Amino acid sequence: MGRKMMQFTRLPGAMPIKREAEVRRQDFEEIYTGYEPEPGAEQASRCEQCGIPFCQVHCPLQNNIPDWLLLTAQGRMEEAYAVSSATNNMPEICGRICPQDRLCEGSCVLEQSRHGTVTIGAVEKHITDTAWEQGWVQPVKPTRERPETVGIIGAGPGGMAAAEQLRKHGYQVTLYDRYDRVGGLLIYGIPGFKLEKHIVERRAKLLADAGVEIRLNFEVGRDASLAELRERHDAILIATGVYKARDLTVPGAGLPGVLPALQYLTASNRLSLGDSVPDFDSGLLDAKGKNVVVVGGGDTAMDCVRTAIRQGATSVKCLYRRDRANMPGSQREVTNAMEEGVEFVWLSAPEAVIDIDGRAGEVQAVRMHLGVADATGRQTPTPIEGSQLRLPADMVISALGFEPEDLPTLFGAPDLPVTRWGTLKVDSHSMMTQAEGVFGAGDIVRGASLVVWAVRDGRDAAEGIHDYIQAKATAKDTQGAG
Ligand code: FAD
Repeated sequence: MGRKMMQFTRLPGAMPIKREAEVRRQDFEEIYTGYEPEPGAEQASRCEQCGIPFCQVHCPLQNNIPDWLLLTAQGRMEEAYAVSSATNNMPEICGRICPQDRLCEGSCVLEQSRHGTVTIGAVEKHITDTAWEQGWVQPVKPTRERPETVGIIGAGPGGMAAAEQLRKHGYQVTLYDRYDRVGGLLIYGIPGFKLEKHIVERRAKLLADAGVEIRLNFEVGRDASLAELRERHDAILIATGVYKARDLTVPGAGLPGVLPALQYLTASNRLSLGDSVPDFDSGLLDAKGKNVVVVGGGDTAMDCVRTAIRQGATSVKCLYRRDRANMPGSQREVTNAMEEGVEFVWLSAPEAVIDIDGRAGEVQAVRMHLGVADATGRQTPTPIEGSQLRLPADMVISALGFEPEDLPTLFGAPDLPVTRWGTLKVDSHSMMTQAEGVFGAGDIVRGASLVVWAVRDGRDAAEGIHDYIQAKATAKDTQGAG
């Protein structure tokens, strides 16, 4: 109690213990341990409590970071949890996987003044992990139940956040997902070494305990059309994410041994969850003993290279057409991958996958030069003539990003308004599409983005839905009275 703040001049920033690369590359468990109470409080006390908290400003959820750091430093953990969970439906998940270096921590005044950022993500995780241990995380119990029902399509972070917020208002919520588990990319995309699966599963259970009806293996477009769901519910939220992989289009991309990233990661996550995966057992999705080349430079590529290391690949290379400074993935993850033995081949793009005995055997790449910046300010990579190189590759994983599926066709709803990129068109305030009572949130609205943005959208959409249902009820009452 009573610990003073502004301890950054005395205490260096320190993350919780990171397991040695040699040890962590043998398993799929998270690489960081948690803070013990004392170091957690100490790290929180480094915060300067500055007048304009840039950490909060640059958090998509506007998390009240300075206040929960202060409370943690004072040992008032239950209050810290109350403040942290007031703006975020899954703080322990964001604490683990937000790219803090680009958001709160990258904006911390201490980072800018070279004292080293407050370890905001690690403290956030510490607060909510403590809350779970202490039993402070409880399912929502609405003060009053409302009769109106909301159908949410997609049980990723966007849908999960919206479901919890809507239950707080007392609505009857049904969460539909085509997968057999709740969590979306939290469960089947992001590997356990960043986010252990039981962390997601306990959030899913919390929703069920709060009275959310969860209907799994239910694919909208196959098991019901959007029109049927609109009949069934007072409002609908579409939070289906983006799943159409951008293809590798070079010659040889169709050879056996060339795989889409998500198929590879989903198989590995299913194994961690105890499922049997025949395509892993057959060797198709197992990197053991193989020379692996992953094409791409985002979060997905980082997750693939580090998964391949853990599966016992002979060599793992990441081929990226720009340099490290221009990678879209988190710099922290690049460092982790390097420590674990991943080799980065920067400024190189694939030209062909070479057929050896009827399957992928090598990748032919060409060196790139970063030229003048385009309209977006990013330098355009151009191939350097005659600079070809060959990399051994029995497994080539394509991690070139994701686009929306053709939602209007898939949902049997040709009138559903989408942008020219295929993302759902919504009003940025209410999150409603032009189809009345149909809302959107998360990646399907933004394109491939971040968990924290999906949570933000889910919360905004829940408020939009509440306003919409209430306005309708008021209009009905007024008509009745007239
Ligand atoms: P999703 O999480 O994709 O969930 C959508 C859900 O909708 C899925 O469960 C799907 O089964 C369901 N669905 C789709 N269509 C239908 C249908 N027709 N009927 C019923 N259900 C349907 N972000 C970070 O912040 N940090 C990271 O470290 C990070 N790592 C990532 C690693 C990988 C490999 C990938 C692919 C993404 C990563 N992201 C990361 C991005 C993040 O996971 C997404 O931005 C986030 O999950 C989007 O949430 P969402 O709720 O919009 O969609």
